[in-house]
Amino acid sequence: MFSLQGKIALITGGGSGIGFAIAQCMIQAGAKVVITGRREQMLKDAVAELGENAFYFVNDVTALEHLEDLVEQIETQIGAIDILVNNAGINMKKFAIEVSDEDFSRIVNTNLNAVFALTRTCAKRMLVRKSGTILMISSMAAYYGIDRVVAYTASKCGVEGMVKALAMEFSTQNVRVNAIAPGFIETAMSKTAMNSDPARKHKALDRTPMGYFGQPEDIGMAAVFLSSEEAKYITGASLPVDGGNSIGF
Ligand code: NDP
Repeated sequence: MFSLQGKIALITGGGSGIGFAIAQCMIQAGAKVVITGRREQMLKDAVAELGENAFYFVNDVTALEHLEDLVEQIETQIGAIDILVNNAGINMKKFAIEVSDEDFSRIVNTNLNAVFALTRTCAKRMLVRKSGTILMISSMAAYYGIDRVVAYTASKCGVEGMVKALAMEFSTQNVRVNAIAPGFIETAMSKTAMNSDPARKHKALDRTPMGYFGQPEDIGMAAVFLSSEEAKYITGASLPVDGGNSIGF
């Protein structure tokens, strides 16, 4: 069950946090993974830990003009991409009236525009092969309002909409498109933010029915399932992995 044997997965932002855990889980399920990001040393260390079935390419997803080249290089050197995981993402906490146009564009360029551009590039090839799965790492922020994350929320709502539109277009050609919407997941980045703001941590725990934060592997295992043959009838879906966070409080 849930085997990814023989599959090749491209995971953006796979050198840390949730992306790294997705890479670990996919390798355990039999896949080869290619991780990308901007920091080469981090990617090198990650690949050393992930083992012989992991490869890295230094890439900034917001440099849209390089994405075609990136995919071409991966497919030539490693093999055809069966699974695309759009995981790379950034956030910023500011009151809406203090968010500049530059701030807004920076978040939306990374979390939405780059996701579309890379998806389009990979989808062209997947549609020809009539095989592939595309997974977006969205957020519970797409399900309900959270203060001081207006650009992030707008970008993740855009991603959720894109999932439905793309799933409609690709569904007859055996290319599935889904999202995972994580709740509060303990990554290095979120831990630092939570530990420096105990009130925020308390609020986050308070509105998580299960009463504790998720681990990156919780997202990794859901990603394996949604990318596997066992999920072959699932497309256009958004799966919350959030300890009940999105059902109410
Ligand atoms: P991290 O900051 O640990 O990981 C983000 C990764 O994205 C890094 O490896 C970073 O590498 C990469 N990245 C950022 N910008 C770019 C870019 N321009 N080009 C290429 N890579 C980039 O965060 P998380 O693991 O927590 O987040 C992963 C995803 O999960 C994000 O989409 C986030 O929105 C989502 N999410 C996380 C939640 C959480 O609680 N942690 C909750 C809900 C959603 P580098 O800087 O080297 O480029």
